[in-house]
Amino acid sequence: MTIEGKVAVITGGSSGIGYATALALSKAGAKVAAGARRTDRLEQLKAEIEKIGGEALVGRLDVTKKADCDSFVNDVVKKWGAVDILVNNAGLMPLSFFKNLKVDEWDRMVDVNLKGVLYAAAAVVPHMIAQKSGHIVNISSIAGRVVFPAGSVYCATKHAVTAFSEGLRQELSQRYSIRVTAIEPGVVDTELNNTITDASLQKFVESTKQMAALHAEDIANAILFAVGSPPHMNVNEIMVRPTVQER
Ligand code: NDP
Repeated sequence: MTIEGKVAVITGGSSGIGYATALALSKAGAKVAAGARRTDRLEQLKAEIEKIGGEALVGRLDVTKKADCDSFVNDVVKKWGAVDILVNNAGLMPLSFFKNLKVDEWDRMVDVNLKGVLYAAAAVVPHMIAQKSGHIVNISSIAGRVVFPAGSVYCATKHAVTAFSEGLRQELSQRYSIRVTAIEPGVVDTELNNTITDASLQKFVESTKQMAALHAEDIANAILFAVGSPPHMNVNEIMVRPTVQER
């Protein structure tokens, strides 16, 4: 099975897992549309893709705005005539102890990690139903399976993404040949920790810097495995931890 010529949309393509996935899918022959808020990073991604002979479309996308998601996907369909793959990746992880009441950070996590995932899926699903094919890859997390104290809100959003993925699979897979995969990474070396403002988590942040964490490319390869599987095979979940990560 190949993804040569397939059209892939990636949210949060400006860094980390999204950036690596855009490159990996492009190298495998997909046309890649990547959206995020930092457009300078996206232009760098586009240049990198074009340098290796790939096709890219990049643009500003705030997944908390449903209209942004709709118009981004509509632009992709206008340019390439289809949308075959969505990698629903945009997310943030400002971990904090609940008692510190960082309400703005909870709001942002719910808006991006959960509502953003729904809005991006909503933008592609009508096209995929019309095509009777497609693949939605939602980036959940180990935090979508296990829970830890300073992660109560983050884990809640990622549990929701895991649950949403399974519900979406049940609704769309058999009826419309739209496959759905939840990816559940453990610690990956990206910029994700930069959103943590709770000073009491400084030790945790330092410890993740010391560990032999996964690379963004490891997760990109897992995504590539899922989307490159033959049409009769729906990879429902992939959980990947660093070898040294216990929980
Ligand atoms: P990064 O911080 O490197 O990437 C996060 C991406 O999300 C950026 O491209 C950022 O782009 C984008 N983003 C944030 N807010 C918005 C928004 N409102 N609209 C559009 N894009 C947005 O971290 P990762 O690559 O690690 O994170 C990617 C996903 O992987 C997240 O969902 C995260 O929860 C998940 N994950 C990460 C793990 C890890 O250990 N790193 C482990 C498990 C899951 P910009 O700021 O330019 O908008």
